Amino acid sequence: MHRDAPHRTPSSDALAAAREQPVPVRRILRLFRPCRGRLLLVGLLVAASSLVSVASPFLLREILDTAIPERRTGLLALLALGMILIAVTTSIFGVLQTLISTTVGQQVMHDLRTAVYAKLQRMSLAFFTRTRTGEVQSRIADDIGGMQATVTSTATSLVSNLTSVLATVCAMLALDWRLTAVSLLLLPAFVWISRRVGRERKAHAARRQRQMAAMSAMVTESLSASGILLGRTLGRSDELTESFARESERLARLEIRSSTAGRWRIATLGMVMGALPPLLYWAAGLLLDLGGPPLSLGTLVAFATLQQGLLRPAVSLLSTGVDMQASLALFHRIFEYLDMTVDIAEPARPVRLPAPRGEVRFEGVSFCYTPDAPPTLDGIDLRVPAGSSLAVVGPTGSGKSTLGHLLPRLYDVTRGRVLLDGVDVRDLDFDTLARAVAVVSQETYLLHASVAENLRFARPGATDAELVAATEAAQIHRLLAALPDGYDTVVGERGHRFSGGEKQRLALARAILRDPPVLILDEATSALDTRTEHAVQEAIEALSAERTTVTIAHRLSTVRRADRIVVLDAGRIAERGTHDELLARDGRYAALVHRDAGASGGSRAPVR
Ligand code: ADP
Repeated sequence: MHRDAPHRTPSSDALAAAREQPVPVRRILRLFRPCRGRLLLVGLLVAASSLVSVASPFLLREILDTAIPERRTGLLALLALGMILIAVTTSIFGVLQTLISTTVGQQVMHDLRTAVYAKLQRMSLAFFTRTRTGEVQSRIADDIGGMQATVTSTATSLVSNLTSVLATVCAMLALDWRLTAVSLLLLPAFVWISRRVGRERKAHAARRQRQMAAMSAMVTESLSASGILLGRTLGRSDELTESFARESERLARLEIRSSTAGRWRIATLGMVMGALPPLLYWAAGLLLDLGGPPLSLGTLVAFATLQQGLLRPAVSLLSTGVDMQASLALFHRIFEYLDMTVDIAEPARPVRLPAPRGEVRFEGVSFCYTPDAPPTLDGIDLRVPAGSSLAVVGPTGSGKSTLGHLLPRLYDVTRGRVLLDGVDVRDLDFDTLARAVAVVSQETYLLHASVAENLRFARPGATDAELVAATEAAQIHRLLAALPDGYDTVVGERGHRFSGGEKQRLALARAILRDPPVLILDEATSALDTRTEHAVQEAIEALSAERTTVTIAHRLSTVRRADRIVVLDAGRIAERGTHDELLARDGRYAALVHRDAGASGGSRAPVR
């Protein structure tokens, strides 16, 4: 199914281009609109805790300058308690603020995730065939996950750092303007040093991340069942091990470099933090020497405390910008998905058919998978009266499956019309179309759920008796009933593995449960052995009696009794008629029948 498409997919090029565009700040803010009240509360909490925490050094000054020298124990107790109270209050405020901003962030992320999922559910099959596997999962999981930091904490830390810096500077000015001037002169140098180290570490982290991704891609590719099969049968196992070793060594080297960089960062920051107070005391001494007004010990210590508290918010205020930029790129990627045009959309005023009869017509239908490719179907005219059966045969690649995809609108025609009961399928509402047409194809897909749940996916309200009736018709009931857990058996990778033929019969049972007026069987019995195929074929014929059936078949044994047969060749109808008419004509169909007869006489496995 997987083809590289020339269509524009949201590739890394497109993403790089998207990053160049202006940041959709307004659109991001709109996402937060439903949570305005809570965000305001967060803002208030942040402001309150910054203001309260800068009060602490003032109490400290009073302790050092008044309470201790004058031995006023009552005042001392009061001031100490005040400082404790401030610590307790700011911590509680911090917890509340994290709690609220996390719920807001999670709500925004949940809304985005659901919006992206809903959008993708509306995208056409073509979108999924041309999008790289994993890309879609990565949008929903990694990109939205990566925004978590921004939506939950970056915005609040921006506000909190800003208010902290402002409040601290104000408090410093209130203590002593000369020391404030000294400290603001020292600050830029320290911020610069710690940012530099931080940036270096980030670059290392990004390189390490890329290397880990490369390694895990290699593991996924080469250590899967098919990867091992390929490596083993082509004798490449040793080379694979060697190249894995090279990747692993590169990772080890990166890890070492990134953790030494980390150590250096911590050491540098430690030095900076340690150097600030002595520098300040030194400056204070010089100031006194120059003959300024006296400076109390309390003021000096309180000032040093404030200055220490200034460093962290000032540094993180600067790095917030970098973090924000990274997650704005993620917002871009998500918006890009949300803005994709739905190529197969429901019309504005869809036609509903309460009880579709199932007459199918193709009028001058042509179809191209890509605009510049030659048509896969060309000038198809067909009429299938309600309740009759049509078989489509022809060589592989002649366009049979494509023809089957056009009626349920998995793809839309490039030219011409496909009509159901005289209505263009593009005018029908999706629900009518889904109820009217069921497709059983060669690639059957079962959900990781119980057999019963898989069947009820086709018809949620079906009773047990209805399930059994459908599985009996599809010749699979006996097998299901004999399983240890019966219809509760879980299907899928970690559950029961059904064979290709069994899966096809389950898919048939699913179609029978839906009971649609039009049934499209695309090589639906191809994986069955001849005996089961025969039995299932009978079931299908019983089913076809009262509905329109389009059977796409490679093996001709299944189409003999169809009311009409068309032979496709390179996207055009080469012949049409009944089995007998076409045999009598002795053209392509007759040749296919002879080829089949030859094949079944020679190489087909004998019927057990
Ligand atoms: P058939 O069912 O007769 O074997 P198909 O309808 O599957 O033929 O395919 C008809 C042609 O269309 C083939 O050449 C195939 O390669 C091409 N084709 C099928 N699916 C796609 C797709 N998603 N994108 C591009 N080309 C496709």
